[in-house]
Amino acid sequence: MRATRAARLFGGLAPAPVERPILLVADGRTAAVRAGGEVPAGADLVDLPDATLLPGLIDAHTHLAFDASADPVGSLASASDSDVLDRMRRAACTALAAGITTVRDLGDRGYLALRLRDELAGNPTAGPLVLASGPPITTPGGHCWYLGGEATGVDGIRDAVRARAEHGVDVIKVMASGGEMTPGTQVHLAQFGLDELRAAAEEAHRFGLPATAHAHSGRAIADAVAAGFDSIEHCSFMTEDGVEPLPDVIEAIVESGVVVCATVGVLPTGAPPPRIAPRDEAFTALFRQMKRAGVTIVCSSDAGIGPQKPHSVLPHSVIMLVETQGWSAAEALEAATSRAARLCRVDDRKGRLAPGLDADILAVTGNPLTSPRALLDVAAVFREGHRTH
Ligand SMILES: [Zn+2]
Repeated sequence: MRATRAARLFGGLAPAPVERPILLVADGRTAAVRAGGEVPAGADLVDLPDATLLPGLIDAHTHLAFDASADPVGSLASASDSDVLDRMRRAACTALAAGITTVRDLGDRGYLALRLRDELAGNPTAGPLVLASGPPITTPGGHCWYLGGEATGVDGIRDAVRARAEHGVDVIKVMASGGEMTPGTQVHLAQFGLDELRAAAEEAHRFGLPATAHAHSGRAIADAVAAGFDSIEHCSFMTEDGVEPLPDVIEAIVESGVVVCATVGVLPTGAPPPRIAPRDEAFTALFRQMKRAGVTIVCSSDAGIGPQKPHSVLPHSVIMLVETQGWSAAEALEAATSRAARLCRVDDRKGRLAPGLDADILAVTGNPLTSPRALLDVAAVFREGHRTH
């Protein structure tokens, strides 16, 4: 039995933190959380007197195969599978060192993220728990076609979902609109018809898998919700030259319980991409509007897609929700822990510090509930009870 003592503990849900906690771990799982700081006889003590204990963070939208360089697509295209896999191992370590103990990879090449997932499965200190979609399903020449997931027509889409299910993916990802990273695609236009999206969501659910849609355009968002997708990535309501929230669609998102995976947060260095910068204010207003309307928003990052989004960027996403979106720190942390765990369907073992759940723990110096930048000051990381940092 190991006991970790700290100044306070945030368990993953918004209510008040535990003061002077002792967190007991046995066999890789949390055995108990007690207030008061009394160490049970015979327990090994890890004393972190200035630290706050949190559940390890969960990034529900990353790309381990993208190297966070200025040209991640070109860099991927010129690398062999074994080089890409090496790069992904390093990306996984980078995430873990920042306290990110679970990642959901929403777009790789050749199912490499599944290979990494399986490789790391017996070795919790080598990286986070990896969940993965494999190559996202897209139209011929559509967003991220170079990852190998092109499919067309209702039958083609059903086949593509089945192929992924056979590979053992954790989630089905469909590119419902164009994307910034793929020249020739249009973010403000839908890529698939409603019947194709319906086929994708239906087939995913038939295999017991969640379906998530990359969607920037209002039409793509509306269709993905109508088609029965479980979540929407980005959900940015982008038009050709701006951002235009559609109240009816936001209402439909709330009513259907579809989760919005907000891929927010960048390193505070450098400028945002030229096409995004002029829309910054509109995005802020959009996410405030969705939150007010009652949309469930999960905090995620899209790590890997550029130099401002390294695989350790998620803490900045939490900070951004507090500083720019006006969220309380507890709520932003909840969106990156217990709420993200629910979206990723791992809430029976991840996302909270509670008896019986995996002891994936982030300890930071200071109090992130009053100053979220404390998240950047990592004091210790534990994966299934093993201290990795
Ligand atoms: Zn992405």
